[in-house]
Amino acid sequence: MLIKKSKSDFINAIKIEKGKRYRINLDMGRMHDFTDLKMPIEVVSGKKDGPTIFICSTIHGDEINGIEIVRTLLDLIDVKTMAGKLIAIPIVNIFGFNDHSRYLPDRRDLNRCFPGIKNGSLASQLAYKFMQEIVLKSDFGIDIHSGSMHRVNFPHIRIDIENQTDLELAKVFNAPAIVNSILRDGSLRNAGSQANIPIIVYEAGEILRFDQEAVEIGLRGIFNIMKKIGMISKIPSKLEFKNKNQIFLARSSSWVRASQSGIFIANVKLGDKIKKSQILGTISNPFGDNKYDIISGDDGLVIGLTMMPLVNKGDALLHLASSKKLTIKENFTNDSQNLVMD
Ligand SMILES: [Zn+2]
Repeated sequence: MLIKKSKSDFINAIKIEKGKRYRINLDMGRMHDFTDLKMPIEVVSGKKDGPTIFICSTIHGDEINGIEIVRTLLDLIDVKTMAGKLIAIPIVNIFGFNDHSRYLPDRRDLNRCFPGIKNGSLASQLAYKFMQEIVLKSDFGIDIHSGSMHRVNFPHIRIDIENQTDLELAKVFNAPAIVNSILRDGSLRNAGSQANIPIIVYEAGEILRFDQEAVEIGLRGIFNIMKKIGMISKIPSKLEFKNKNQIFLARSSSWVRASQSGIFIANVKLGDKIKKSQILGTISNPFGDNKYDIISGDDGLVIGLTMMPLVNKGDALLHLASSKKLTIKENFTNDSQNLVMD
């Protein structure tokens, strides 16, 4: 299914003129107490013609790292020297955010509801409005997420690495890792791909926390992309790239799961490169005996880690990215079997 892009210069019925900034409260319907619901966005419209990019955060209402990225981005961007339009949405899931929750009040995951339906469920209406007013008026998008509850993510970009445009954008972004990730039905990234609008996902940190390093890498990545697509001519000097390490390109990723219940102590940290047969951690009983080593079945990079040491058999412990296609082993599962993703 191909979704049609829009060429409109209007957002929420407001004409966007060159060389101006707009703070707009997108109308998102009405609550049952009859209060009108708004999604605050900022549109920075450069003096010169250029592409339109949207940067959004907090589709999952408790993943707030991106809010700090958007806030700092808006502080550093200069409308006088910018070309094209930047649409910044710090909080997409306004319901979940106010509740410190990933979900919407109807328990739906907004990132499974795109492109949405005009008269659908609450989540579907929100997704629809977001698509119509923002995504379909953009040429590119960056969607910022973090690890889900009790998990922390190493800063990385998720894309379909077979898609050359996405791969190029991901390389320009220059996060420490790029991880191949299948398009999921209902995700914003999938809806973007149906409309031919490249959207890359930046994953970093954990819920309900600002992680300064993740914020800096994300911010630098956004500026790198804006420079590459001709929206700015130089990166703010305080964000000049320091880390010259190579990007880890992962063709697959899988979760290492607990082979028994108990207390998990990890031997590895986020961003560690690990070797096949390496001990990744141990699970023991509360007295510290009955120890069971968790052994890596492959080489890889640690891109996700549980922060919850109390584990049941089968719980996800550690997310491992691999430069080759991983074979699924006994204590490994692939992403699609995971109930709650990042
Ligand atoms: Zn998320």
